Amino acid sequence: MARHGEASFGEGNDFVKKGGNTLKVPLLDLRKQFESIKDEVVAVTEQVYESQQFILGPKVEDLEQKIAEYCRCKYAVGVSSGTDALLISLMTAGVGSGDLVITSPYTFFATGGSIARVGAKPVFVDIDEHTYNMDPEKLEEAVSSIKRKDRPKLKAIMPVHLFGQTADMEPVLELAKRHGLCVVEDAAQAIGAEYEFKDGAIRRAGSMGEYGCFSFFPSKNLGAFGDAGMVTTNDADLYERLKMMRGHGAKPKYFHKIIGGNFRIDALQAAILSVKLKYLDHWTKGRIENARRYRELFQTAGVKEITLPLEKEKRHIYNQFVIKVRHKRDELRKFLDSKGVGTEVYYPVSLHNQECFQYLGYGNGDFPASNRAASTTLALPIFSELTADQIFYVVDSIKEFFSTGH
Ligand SMILES: *Cc1c(COP(=O)(O)O)cnc(C)c1O
Repeated sequence: MARHGEASFGEGNDFVKKGGNTLKVPLLDLRKQFESIKDEVVAVTEQVYESQQFILGPKVEDLEQKIAEYCRCKYAVGVSSGTDALLISLMTAGVGSGDLVITSPYTFFATGGSIARVGAKPVFVDIDEHTYNMDPEKLEEAVSSIKRKDRPKLKAIMPVHLFGQTADMEPVLELAKRHGLCVVEDAAQAIGAEYEFKDGAIRRAGSMGEYGCFSFFPSKNLGAFGDAGMVTTNDADLYERLKMMRGHGAKPKYFHKIIGGNFRIDALQAAILSVKLKYLDHWTKGRIENARRYRELFQTAGVKEITLPLEKEKRHIYNQFVIKVRHKRDELRKFLDSKGVGTEVYYPVSLHNQECFQYLGYGNGDFPASNRAASTTLALPIFSELTADQIFYVVDSIKEFFSTGH
């Protein structure tokens, strides 16, 4: 099974009956998607080869404009990965040694890792058990529990829009304003997800904080052919600073105003992403439709042992379709594997329990909702090209597991 960082997302004969009645349903298969756009992809990559412009340039600028427009914000800066999008945002915000940054402990490692890498300390706030996103009530408690003398060190909040649904942003933005904090959205899994404010305003993931961080890792809804990422912002000064930071802090070339790094996106990746962006809404609609099918089929099947994902915010883009399995999650996973159904646990260990974060001094029991999520969640295949038969087969296999005395 493909793991993060070691990825292959084509299992070839994905729709083949092996022996008895085993239907192969990989967690993700990008081959069909590629077949449908292959000619266009080959054509734009040839353009890049012919131009011999590999670093930044017109293909990157074109993608940046399109992503800014898609996310309904003013500017976008192409970077080398989603991880680097988080890192460069914190660096640009001036977050550094000894500072505190609030985030969720139930997320991909890069969220907490980027905070630690700039020398700051992650302050974890437990999640809402139904949405898996940071719980706004616990956010208030976390801020109040920071000692008065340490309050000035608190510089930023990094909400995560996990699995493709935005965090509850209104209380986050309100608290940030009250305490003068910068908001860096980890929107790596949430391109095109929407959040509705109480006054009816609708904003897209990445357009609400000072910085919106996106990943184009191949398994995200908009995936590159390698690593790539993007930072969005509505602030013209931050936009200029981000571009400087991406090229070793130089402006003009060889005159270094700030200490940046090499965080550039490849022109090749940008060219391919521009092609794929045209189809993103179509693919996302496919995921949303698949989620609807799962709900319908699970209800008909009457599987009581699992909980389906809660759709709370405006537009969930289903980067993952994550069910909660109250008992025997790992046994179910093994059973599904034997039936040819790919699944994954996002994430088996919360950040406060990671070996590398033990120095933060958290106890295992400090974030009970995150711990429960880590031991009960299971991601099912949700990619757009799944067939109705495959979805039926996944539901039927889960029903079989629970109805055969497990
Ligand atoms: C994928 C992901 C990242 C990191 O993106 P990369 O492009 O793999 O570096 C960061 N945060 C979250 C929540 C992610 O899912």
